[in-house]
Amino acid sequence: MKRLKDFAISVFRCTSLGGGIRLGRVKKGVRCSVVGCENEAVRSLSSEQMAGVGLEVGNVRRVYLCEEHYKFYKKRKRKEKMIEAWRWKT
Ligand SMILES: [Zn+2]
Repeated sequence: MKRLKDFAISVFRCTSLGGGIRLGRVKKGVRCSVVGCENEAVRSLSSEQMAGVGLEVGNVRRVYLCEEHYKFYKKRKRKEKMIEAWRWKT
């Protein structure tokens, strides 16, 4: 299971950096994966994490996001979490 390995690596990275977010750092010069975006990527995510975010990234396993799109991603994820919390309450 390669996917599981990727996940384990990202968790390891996260804990080694002392952060609470499971995200990998991106090498310099990598472009944002969002279709039509030419910005330099700052974060990488798995395509699974991108599900339901509403960004068009094409058929890639590893998604790279620029700062702008990463902010968008975080906003969408926060909303998703809130909706989930409401669901659980009712
Ligand atoms: Zn972008």
